[in-house]
Amino acid sequence: MKQLIVNADLATFSGPEGPRAGAEMRSLGLIRGGAVLMDGGKIVSSGLKELVLKHPDAGKARLLDAGGRLLLPGFVDCHTHPVFAEPRLRDYGLRAQGKTYEEIAAEGGGIVSSVRAVRGASQEDLARGLFERARRFLECGTTTLEAKSGYGLDPDSELKMLRAMKAAAAGSPLEILPTFLGAHAVPPEYAGRTDDYVRLLVSEVLPVVAREGLARFADAFCEEGYFSPEQAEFYLKACQGAGLGLRLHAEQFTRCGGALLAARLGALSADHLDRVEDNDLAALKAAGVVACLVPGSNHFLGLSEFPPARRIIDAGVPVALATDFNPGTCPCWNLQEILSIAVSRMRMTPEEALCAVTVNAAHALGLGKTHGRIQPGMQADLVLFDCQDPRELPYWFGANLAVTVFKRGNVVHSTEELRF
Ligand SMILES: [Zn+2]
Repeated sequence: MKQLIVNADLATFSGPEGPRAGAEMRSLGLIRGGAVLMDGGKIVSSGLKELVLKHPDAGKARLLDAGGRLLLPGFVDCHTHPVFAEPRLRDYGLRAQGKTYEEIAAEGGGIVSSVRAVRGASQEDLARGLFERARRFLECGTTTLEAKSGYGLDPDSELKMLRAMKAAAAGSPLEILPTFLGAHAVPPEYAGRTDDYVRLLVSEVLPVVAREGLARFADAFCEEGYFSPEQAEFYLKACQGAGLGLRLHAEQFTRCGGALLAARLGALSADHLDRVEDNDLAALKAAGVVACLVPGSNHFLGLSEFPPARRIIDAGVPVALATDFNPGTCPCWNLQEILSIAVSRMRMTPEEALCAVTVNAAHALGLGKTHGRIQPGMQADLVLFDCQDPRELPYWFGANLAVTVFKRGNVVHSTEELRF
């Protein structure tokens, strides 16, 4: 169906192919009084209203008046852990009392409690939970989601998580791209035998993941006490050989070599990067790896330090932002909240932050040619927000300003009666 949105201020992010770096991140491609013509799930014309109305199909389209409000590309959340069985409310309360991660883990909390719950849950329950959460993301303007496994940590449970994602994705308008994060943590039954666990993932789980087409990407948690760069490399290279794109949790707690590994393997993104150093940044830039920052987890954990976004942008590495949605360290599905945290705590400009959840986040998922911009030929993923100025999105922190959400040209959420 042909649809025409008129009377919208567009933040198009239009421009050349490729992720935006440095000063390019501050260019929104803003068009006041713009219009977008959609057909067949794609944008066929966009820009100044007078120009779009000249398109031969404009007169045949269903017309929607945006009332002078802001239209953005649908947000791309490029780092989440949204498949889990239970929230970690107990951990949250204990942390508020000043307990450390080790103390919480000793009381039965932490990631091991998420693993226990996922192992005990049915695939149907996990799929239903993700399906319901998918609505929450959509309501906040996220139209594309990367989703990681990694709370199963045994062959059956990891596959169960990935199959649950497939089932939820089939019924949800949210586009869900699955990531095989078998190397998230070493399960208790493999304590002290990390090499054996990595070999198990590669020999028993990866072949099924590849055969059933269960994942688009692979990810590993490269960190002291988790997976060394050598172990992560062994796992990621095998996944790459099976056709998966790569991403990596790198330099979060300690600087242990994950960023250099991501650069060497040609990963799409290196994520967290709290402890990244200048030579890491040079390698990421040279290899075209997107730095994906997830300051929501620092915020929720009450940390005073945040990833060095300014230093990363100034080094010319393209920055993406994501929620890191997960039950332990960031139960936040609203990327608008992450924009606020990025501006207030990492000193990104509002424009840089918006670039980081649209065009750059799309590139972090290898989707830069189809997602994250308002331009002819792009997928018609659009969000109408109840504001006039893009800077309002991070400014009104805690609010959800999304009004109407289009996915592939279809209205998948709206808080108001649409006036066509
Ligand atoms: Zn993560």
